[in-house]
Amino acid sequence: MAKRDYYEVLGVDRNASQEEIKKAYRRQALKYHPDRNPGDKEAEEKFKEAAEAYEVLSDPEKRERYNRFGHEGLRDTFGSGGFQWSDFSHVRDFEDIFESFFGESIFGDFFGRRTTRQAGPQRGSDLRVTLPLSLEEIATGVEKKIRLKRFERCNACGGSGAKGRSARVCPICHGTGQVRQVSRSFLGQFVNVTTCDRCGGEGRVVEEPCPVCHGQGRVRGVSTISVKIPPGVGNGNYIPLRGQGNAGPRGGPPGDVMVFIEEEEHKDFERHGDDILYELPVSFSQAALGDEIEVPTLYGKVRMKLPAGIQSGKVLRLRGKGLPRLQAYGKGDQLVRIHVWTPTRLSDREKTLLKELAKLENTAPPKGGRSFFKRVKETFGG
Ligand SMILES: [Zn+2]
Ligand SMILES: [Zn+2]
Repeated sequence: MAKRDYYEVLGVDRNASQEEIKKAYRRQALKYHPDRNPGDKEAEEKFKEAAEAYEVLSDPEKRERYNRFGHEGLRDTFGSGGFQWSDFSHVRDFEDIFESFFGESIFGDFFGRRTTRQAGPQRGSDLRVTLPLSLEEIATGVEKKIRLKRFERCNACGGSGAKGRSARVCPICHGTGQVRQVSRSFLGQFVNVTTCDRCGGEGRVVEEPCPVCHGQGRVRGVSTISVKIPPGVGNGNYIPLRGQGNAGPRGGPPGDVMVFIEEEEHKDFERHGDDILYELPVSFSQAALGDEIEVPTLYGKVRMKLPAGIQSGKVLRLRGKGLPRLQAYGKGDQLVRIHVWTPTRLSDREKTLLKELAKLENTAPPKGGRSFFKRVKETFGG
C-alpha cells in the first residue's frame, strides 16, 4: 500500500509550525486512540499512521529530509524496511508513546485511565534523554554515563510517604482503591464503581506524612546511570532503560528512560548508512604517476594504493572500514573520493617544468563535451 503524505495524514500544510503539527497530532491521536475505538483495526492503523507522521514532522532534521526526498529519504531512520511499528516495540502501550513525546501523559485527563486504573500506587513517568555520540564511538560501541535529574524513592520512609515507614490500609475502600455505589432506578439496580476519594485509588492512606518527602514517597535527586551503546547506531535510534525513570509516588513502580541517539558531525567523515565517505585531495603528479597514500579511517590510519592515471571524482573503496551493521553481520566500507588538486602557488622551477610538460602533447586532456566522461570511462574503466 502506498504511503500517504505525512502532511495530509496530520491535515496540516507544508509550512505548518511545530506547534500546529503537535496540535494536529494530538487531535488525530485522540480521535483514533485505541481506547476510544476498541477492536477497530482501521482506527488503529490511522493512529499508527499519525504517530509515524508526527515522529517525522516533529523532528526538524527528519522533516527536512522528508521535504526533500519524500518517504525514500527516511529509509535509514526506520531501517531498510521503512517505518515499522516495531520501532516502538519497547513501548508498553499507547499511553507511553505520549509520555515519551510530550513528557507527560495526556490520557489521564481525557480518558479517565487514571481514575479507572487498578488499585495501587501510580507508575512514575518516563524520561527522555538525548545522547550525542561521535562516529568513532558509534563504530566501536561504547558505554556512557548519563547524569539524570529524577524522582527517587524517599529513603526516610521507604517510599510509603508515611512517617514511621508504614501507610495504613485505607479505611474506606479496605485497600482495593475502589468504591462501589449501588443505586436503584425503575430500570433496575446499578452498581457504580468509582475510585476511592479517600486514598485516590492507592488503597493506602498516609496519616502522618513523612517530613522528608512530605508524603510523596519520593524526592528529587540526581543520579548517574550507565548505558551500553551497541555499535552501528544512528540518529533516530533509541535505547529504553527499564525502570530507570522517575520513581512513582508512594512506592509506585518507576518509569523508563529513553536514550535517543544523536550523531555528532565529524570533521573528516560523512556517514552514508553504513558507509563512510572521505574526500582525499591528491596532487597532479600523484594522480598521474600513482602513489601509496596514508588515509585516516575510524579505526586508525591505513595505507592505500593510488593507481596511476586516476581521475578526479573517482571513488576508491576500503572494504570493511565503514560502520558495523546494526542488525546484521559485517561492516560497511570507507569510500575515498579523489580530488586532483591544482596548485595555486608555483615556484619558478615548477613553472619551468610545467611549461615543458605542456609542450608534450600526450599530457593534454582529450576534447571536452558531453561525451567526455563516457570516453574517460572507456579508457580508464569507470
Ligand atoms: Zn519520605
Ligand atoms: Zn481508599
